[in-house]
Amino acid sequence: MKRLMTIFLMIILLSLFYMYNPFSQEMKVNAKDSKVNYKKLTPEEQQVIIHKGTEAPWTGKYVNFKATGTFTCKQCNAPLYLSQDKFDSQCGWPSFDDEVPSAIKRQVDADGRRTEILCANCGAHLGHVFSGEGFTAKNIRHCVNSISLNFVPADNKTNSETAYFAGGCFWGTEHYLNKTKGVITTTVGYMGGDVENPTYKQVCAGNTGHIETVQVEFDPAIISFEELAKLFFEIHDPTQTNGQGPDIGEQYLSVIFYSNDEQKAVSEKLIKILQGKGYRVATTLIKADKFWDAEDYHQDYYEHKGTQPYCHFYTKRF
Ligand SMILES: [Zn+2]
Repeated sequence: MKRLMTIFLMIILLSLFYMYNPFSQEMKVNAKDSKVNYKKLTPEEQQVIIHKGTEAPWTGKYVNFKATGTFTCKQCNAPLYLSQDKFDSQCGWPSFDDEVPSAIKRQVDADGRRTEILCANCGAHLGHVFSGEGFTAKNIRHCVNSISLNFVPADNKTNSETAYFAGGCFWGTEHYLNKTKGVITTTVGYMGGDVENPTYKQVCAGNTGHIETVQVEFDPAIISFEELAKLFFEIHDPTQTNGQGPDIGEQYLSVIFYSNDEQKAVSEKLIKILQGKGYRVATTLIKADKFWDAEDYHQDYYEHKGTQPYCHFYTKRF
């Protein structure tokens, strides 16, 4: 009998524990909160986001929108697309050829042929995704309703880091780094010398000590310094000792100007990996110094000219 009473008491105590366990209470509150934080949708928003309607072409606010930043889910604010993946498809809706990793859910549309895209976090209807149309190199078009999206300008981002890469003519180095996902902005300029406010002419003459350098501001939540540095080693020839390609001279040397000890350690690690693969790496590591912006006409050079780099090519090395 005494034993039975003990078991009975234990059951009561256990159930009391589960009822008042602060952890399980908190879990319940959080699960509720996440839905509470969803935006209350207007009837027009519901028509698309919940009832999977489509806004009329050319009417959405993001069709011809070119600002730099992140497109987020109207309902739950999850980041969905980056402005650098947006392109002009002339179809009347915002078009993207890539997505934030794991942000988009795909399913067969109710029509049985198209692929519907939804916010992976909250299930909001976004639009449809098409492939094989040949619009961009990635050959994908996410056709998204503007009304399903919000936009967070890049300027609001507090979390950014800076890296400096010198790999020959800065036009080519910038061309590749600038196209990389997670890179917020790139600037070409000069570093490593001792002449203040150097001009391109002075640097080209080769007696300022400056090296043509690309300043890369990036979001470490999307791309790491290591991934960027790997790319740097793959878009120029790090074994050339006297310049890059046909550009010979000290201003074209291969250098990583590291901003902190971690960047230095990562760069050393990558150089060791390359040496292990037989590359005689000429890249030097120098502590970052004052960066001098180059003249405006050098910025985004190939994008403005509409041409391709002459001495920078992608070669897989890692
Ligand atoms: Zn969402």
